Amino acid sequence: MSTLRFQALKDAADRKPVKFEETDKKSVIFGSNVFNDKAMRQFLTPDAYKGVKDAIQHGTKIDRKLADYIAMGMKEWAVAKGVTHYTHWFQPLTGTTAEKHDAFFETSYDGSDPLEKFGGGQLVQQEPDASSFPNGGIRNTFEARGYTAWDPTSPAFIFGTTLCIPTVFISYTGEALDYKTPLLRALNAVDEAATEVCKYFDKNVKKVTATLGWEQEYFLVDSSLANSRPDLLLTGRTLLGHTSAKGQQLDDHYFGSIPSRALNFMRELEEECMYLGIPVKTRHNEVAPNQFELAPIFEETNLAVDHNSLLMDVMSKVAERHDFKVLFHEKPFKGVNGSGKHNNWSLATDTGVNLLSPGKTPMSNLQFLSFFINTIKAVQEYEELLRASIATASNDHRLGANEAPPAIISVFIGAQLTKVLEELEGVTKGKLSPEEKTDLKLNVVGKIPDVLLDNTDRNRTSPFAFTGNKFEFRAVGSSANCANAMTTLNSIVAKQLKEFKKEVDTLIEKKDLKKDEAIFNVLREYIKQTKNILFEGDGYSDAWEKEAKKRGLSNHKTTPAALKAKVSKKALELFHDLNVMNHVEVEARYEIELEEYTKKIQIEGRVLGDIARNHVIPTAIRYQNTLIENVRGLKEIFGKDFEKIAKEQIFLIKEISAHIEGINTNVEAMTEARKKANALTDAQKMAEAYCDKVKPYFEIIREHCDKLELLVDDEIWTLTKYRELLFTR
Ligand code: ADP
Ligand code: MG
Repeated sequence: MSTLRFQALKDAADRKPVKFEETDKKSVIFGSNVFNDKAMRQFLTPDAYKGVKDAIQHGTKIDRKLADYIAMGMKEWAVAKGVTHYTHWFQPLTGTTAEKHDAFFETSYDGSDPLEKFGGGQLVQQEPDASSFPNGGIRNTFEARGYTAWDPTSPAFIFGTTLCIPTVFISYTGEALDYKTPLLRALNAVDEAATEVCKYFDKNVKKVTATLGWEQEYFLVDSSLANSRPDLLLTGRTLLGHTSAKGQQLDDHYFGSIPSRALNFMRELEEECMYLGIPVKTRHNEVAPNQFELAPIFEETNLAVDHNSLLMDVMSKVAERHDFKVLFHEKPFKGVNGSGKHNNWSLATDTGVNLLSPGKTPMSNLQFLSFFINTIKAVQEYEELLRASIATASNDHRLGANEAPPAIISVFIGAQLTKVLEELEGVTKGKLSPEEKTDLKLNVVGKIPDVLLDNTDRNRTSPFAFTGNKFEFRAVGSSANCANAMTTLNSIVAKQLKEFKKEVDTLIEKKDLKKDEAIFNVLREYIKQTKNILFEGDGYSDAWEKEAKKRGLSNHKTTPAALKAKVSKKALELFHDLNVMNHVEVEARYEIELEEYTKKIQIEGRVLGDIARNHVIPTAIRYQNTLIENVRGLKEIFGKDFEKIAKEQIFLIKEISAHIEGINTNVEAMTEARKKANALTDAQKMAEAYCDKVKPYFEIIREHCDKLELLVDDEIWTLTKYRELLFTR
């Protein structure tokens, strides 16, 4: 009997829900481990408090002396809560978060005067040993130098006994080495551009904030079962495994109640989130068995991105206490739904207006339409770049597969708004007659209802859908850092809004149009230009692929193909013009992402080869030997008649041999393909070789292994099966 698998199954079967009791009401504990406004008022001097507030609201610099005062207050607050260490918490380009813990504790050089210390220097700047973070050649590795600096727009928080200070991560030459730095710059760019456009409608607007509400999908698998699968442990997904007889056909998980072990995990997770100020609100089962979703109330984008990264950390830690492993991979199991991370996005003014929410007056609706149409135009203009922003080896399994948003970027807006755009397309060129203006105000712009009914019943197949008061970017992968997608989206919208402003101003100055006439004129042209990106039909259908091709939309199904758009002239210019990233920074990211792709496929190839040869083949041979033994016995008893009686067994013996042969030759060939790929020096070419020459073997090898799984005696099969991974709770 296979000991590991059956021990794991026994462990999982014996589990009881891990007890959990909430400490207090959510509203009471919310944010109590965050150095938020309330804590700052209490622990900072009025000057220091004002300094932080200015930095948050106006981006003013915090000088060293002020930093000392802030650090003192922060330390006092943290120590009062039992904190002993501090860390600069940041998001290197590896996709996870990084931290290096230092104790507050210090002594004098001779060991006297033990003291808890933390000064402005430690708050504002720190040098982690960064030699092993990916940097795409920006910073020569031997220098091993980058520094982290506090980002005051994301508050410090306590996790365990550590004070975590959200920081940016920059090289000594000033280039961004992390996700946060370009995101902050993009948010700044969209703020500037959107504020200017808002001034057409309301002079009081001083700041526009991009908002983000992510929805995180994930799988929970019992930790013993997960530990019994080397592929899950090493690659985050199952590289083989025959589909379970029961999958998600019945949709019973989606509508079912949350299993009690999972429920207790969620309750504890939510409590942790409350302490950390992550405003989680909804939890429910997803479509696939053992798949769940969690979503917060939306927040300012930088904070929301930090909260999502933090959440993923916290989830893994809380899951351990409940004997679960969380799977963030986009496609951990073949044949059942994958996971995504919908990014709900909008723009909000400091006067409290959601710019993507239809208003009550014609003027506010014209503002809504301006932002709505400009977003569509931005997506249309930069669809390839947007696709590139979500390209990873793991998300390739989702995009273009039959159950997720396709690799083609299109925008869904619903029937009501489609009709509005059609009417606006007919607006007269140049000056408008008083009658036309009145008609537009009363019958077109004025008639946009403030609740868009058909958008609540949305098209689930669209990668970028307008959902009533926000756009929902659905193609983002569940394991991704939202920063990548959000940096791109906010940059392209910023660029587009600047363009819009320029065009409107030109019409006002040169053609003597009134402001609203100019806006109508520009929007009309945008509507005409963006028709190819709008799509209301079934995004999963083959017909759409053909149609999209005719429309000239890109359809990059793999990461190496998609990533090229990142370093196109157009993309480099965009990021450069907005001061989001210079060429070096963009190219470094592109290289890092290619490398990451190559490494992922390389690891998967190795793990698959290893499992196929060291688990599957030996097990198959053991079973084949049992069959041979059986045939030999039958021959002994029945003599020359044995062949008829042992017919099935002999057939099986041959079939097993054929699959073993299939595995061996294909693993050999895959290894050869890897060697060839490894010899390439160009990162793009290497990634392409891994994609086109190495990866195709995965399916062939898997096919043989999965067939053997069906043939071989269940008692001796070493790998925990799909039905066990998916239906044990
Ligand atoms: P669902 O898509 O699951 O039906 P909702 O439409 O209520 O749920 O909201 C989905 C997500 O959209 C939530 O996480 C919510 O915080 C977010 N959201 C709602 N309004 C905005 C907004 N103005 N900006 C950004 N995100 C938003
Ligand atoms: Mg949603």
